[in-house]
Amino acid sequence: MAHILYHYSVSCFLSSFNAMSRAFILAGTNLGNREENLKFALESLAQGGTIVRTSPCYETEPVGFSEQPWFINQAIEMETKLTPHELLSVCQGIEAACGRVRSFPNAPRTLDLDILLYGDMAIGDDKLVIPHPRLQERRFALEPLAQIAPDLVHPVLHKSIRLLLEICPDPSRVCRLPTSDPQCCL
Ligand code: AMP
Repeated sequence: MAHILYHYSVSCFLSSFNAMSRAFILAGTNLGNREENLKFALESLAQGGTIVRTSPCYETEPVGFSEQPWFINQAIEMETKLTPHELLSVCQGIEAACGRVRSFPNAPRTLDLDILLYGDMAIGDDKLVIPHPRLQERRFALEPLAQIAPDLVHPVLHKSIRLLLEICPDPSRVCRLPTSDPQCCL
């Protein structure tokens, strides 16, 4: 227990010296009250930094395993002092708190939080890959991201998000939900 507390306090200590970084996260939900799940994600992420912008919400066709409800996806831009791995832990904690049960890949879920981009960083280890390795293959990620960061250049592919969306071969359907507030669809 003391060991765990030690690691926790060390990582908090280290974090306080981190510079502010800009991260883009994709939230997705297709179980339970999807709107409430997205609200919960935003409120929880705000505790790990500052939410700068959110995309409109999109209702999106499931990819990979089609016998499940459609998702709502939203891209979130935040500034944070958390390191990429700390941010991943925070995202996983929020998913668990939202009642996510891990069953099989592409299964329905109350909440999925994927880190799409973290500054200009390229990371690849057994826990975390940034930029997200399937970002360029997924219309449901590119479309909302392009709404808030069209000119952002993918640090590995060296193409803008707008261009990646234009050339994305994913045929799955992505439908923008109506919104009165441009900051958030909810
Ligand atoms: P998922 O089922 O989509 O939530 O992904 C599960 C696994 O993906 C987790 O165990 C993470 O460690 C791993 N992972 C790797 N790269 C990322 C990323 N950029 N964002 C979120 N999860 C990631």
